[in-house]
Amino acid sequence: MALQYVDMSNIKFLLHEVHKVGDLARYPEYSEYDDDSISMIVETLKELADTYLFPYLEECDRTGVKYENGKVTVHPQVVKVMKMMGENGWIGAPYPVEAGGMQLPHMVAILNEFIFAAANNNLNGYPSLTMGAAGLIISFANDALKETYLEKMLTGKWQGTMALTEPQAGSSLSDITTTAIPTEDGHYKIKGTKTFISAGDYEGIENIVHLTLAKIEGAPTGAKGISLFVIPQKRPAAGGKLEPNGVATAGVFHKLGQRGYVTVQLALGDDDNCHGWLVGKPHHGLAYMFQMMNASRISVGTHAAAITSAAYHASLEFARERVQGRRWNERDLTLPQTEIINHPDIRRMLFMQKAVAEGGLSLVLQCTRYEDLHHVSEGEEKEKYDLLLELLTPLVKTFPADAGLQAVSNGLQVLGGSGFCEDYPLEQYYRDIRIMSIYEGTTGIQSLDLLGRKVQLQQGKAFKLFLAETQQTIAAAAEIPALQKYAGQLKSEVENLVGVTKHLGKIAATGDIELFLADATPYQQMFSLIAIAWQWLKQGIVASSVLQAGEKSGDDLIFYESKIHTMKYFFVYQLPETRALTTSITSGEKLTVLGDKDLLI
Ligand SMILES: Cc1cc2nc3c(=O)[nH]c(=O)nc-3n(C[C@H](O)[C@H](O)[C@H](O)COP(=O)(O)OP(=O)(O)OC[C@H]3O[C@@H](n4cnc5c(N)ncnc54)[C@H](O)[C@@H]3O)c2cc1C
Repeated sequence: MALQYVDMSNIKFLLHEVHKVGDLARYPEYSEYDDDSISMIVETLKELADTYLFPYLEECDRTGVKYENGKVTVHPQVVKVMKMMGENGWIGAPYPVEAGGMQLPHMVAILNEFIFAAANNNLNGYPSLTMGAAGLIISFANDALKETYLEKMLTGKWQGTMALTEPQAGSSLSDITTTAIPTEDGHYKIKGTKTFISAGDYEGIENIVHLTLAKIEGAPTGAKGISLFVIPQKRPAAGGKLEPNGVATAGVFHKLGQRGYVTVQLALGDDDNCHGWLVGKPHHGLAYMFQMMNASRISVGTHAAAITSAAYHASLEFARERVQGRRWNERDLTLPQTEIINHPDIRRMLFMQKAVAEGGLSLVLQCTRYEDLHHVSEGEEKEKYDLLLELLTPLVKTFPADAGLQAVSNGLQVLGGSGFCEDYPLEQYYRDIRIMSIYEGTTGIQSLDLLGRKVQLQQGKAFKLFLAETQQTIAAAAEIPALQKYAGQLKSEVENLVGVTKHLGKIAATGDIELFLADATPYQQMFSLIAIAWQWLKQGIVASSVLQAGEKSGDDLIFYESKIHTMKYFFVYQLPETRALTTSITSGEKLTVLGDKDLLI
């Protein structure tokens, strides 16, 4: 078992030096948290992850989930983690103090998810979902619902879920058919089937609170008719008791990865006795749920970057110990074999993993910084950070998921045959990360959102704001002789992105929307590479100025030199992939659009 799964020096570098979390302390909302206290919080998180999560990674996978006699059992550590997270206030970390939270900057709260998911991505999902579900109640529910549910959820006694998907409505949520019929008692009678519900049922937890999308009888068709309900597995009754609420588990899914993180199918109201309570106004449910979906998209990207980080450290450790062959310039067979970390091909795969993990985490922190700045600012500034966050959300979800999968595959490859076997964690990481490109909106759906909606937001205002952000970084890097080359490369990549976006805009103007959106995914991949290069250039600027000052030595010096080296790796090996993507996107061919005859045979 590898000993390390995150690099704390990297976390602190990104948090304090690149993304300047300490700046936030000047706002009253975050005045409790300065650089020192934040460092202590992050250290505490690592200690908790070392104790409660990391030792159980393999066990959670091997124990899996059992469904027998209508009961779902998971690894006993799930309930212990929920309790620990609740008792220490982590489930409410980013929420206001008056709502029972810690009012921690999102930049710090997200590191909770990063460190925990790197330690054990099977266990981390349970409190993470509860946090998101409680957030919906805080933002949109009435006082009675808050009174009944919040404290129980924030203390980890009750699990929270998001119940959106139905067998016939996955990506297309407007097609959900779960119905809600009003009653005179103030609640609604619910009937329907929800599928693929994470953390949807398990023994050992007092209750499970499903934040559920349904349509009130007679509601308008499509997304405009969707409402949000609180549907508890057991409904609170007189005397503080809990009684069954018509929520039945129809089965559990047997999955490729995340086998310790239960996913169930739920039958709601088969017994005509499922009560739901409306959250906020009728027919506003999807808009409300977007709060949780957007937060979850950032979380999923964070979890993917976290698994990539864990896989990188496991393969790095292996590569330092495994000896095989000799260096190509030392072919003397009487010499001992060399550690595989000395082979360029292994180094290429390790740098790729490092570039994706650390570049991905940097984008996560960039997004959560925008979230924090949006929270504390007003007027135009507030709108600016909101737009930037909207634009970058599909990228921060998909890049760590998709590039992370390739990175973890590289990690597995570094181990050779051992990577394919259960004796090492790489095969589990490879299986576990695969889901990140699917749930919370597939890569395809995120890409459509980016090109079809986010790039167009307010006549391209979000896109222009992103260009301004990158230009600022490029200008700062151009002042540093060692970075000029990379600043120039990113400048030309951004210009190319603008050109490709205009090219696609012309297709959109013809009204052929299917053709316009046909290459949304390659476009997203290109955009993501540029966003990550921007994050690497930011890191390069900080590392260069530290190295310029000449005050570092030993491991510290190596840390900053490694940053510059990994930045160069990204610019030389990964960023140029945009050129191939550009060629495909602007080819003028219509190879993926269905023509008169279907040639997919
Ligand atoms: C392990 C797991 C846990 C999950 N947890 C939850 C949960 O807690 N709560 C919850 O509500 N849901 C959950 N989900 C559901 C998940 O969000 C959906 O599986 C996902 O959104 C995709 O929906 P689908 O499976 O129905 O696939 P589909 O929507 O059928 O999509 C199939 C393929 O078609 C593509 N596609 C679909 N529509 C279009 C389109 N218009 N244009 C182009 N391509 C399209 C998709 O990108 C995808 O590649 C979970 C799923 C899994 C597997």
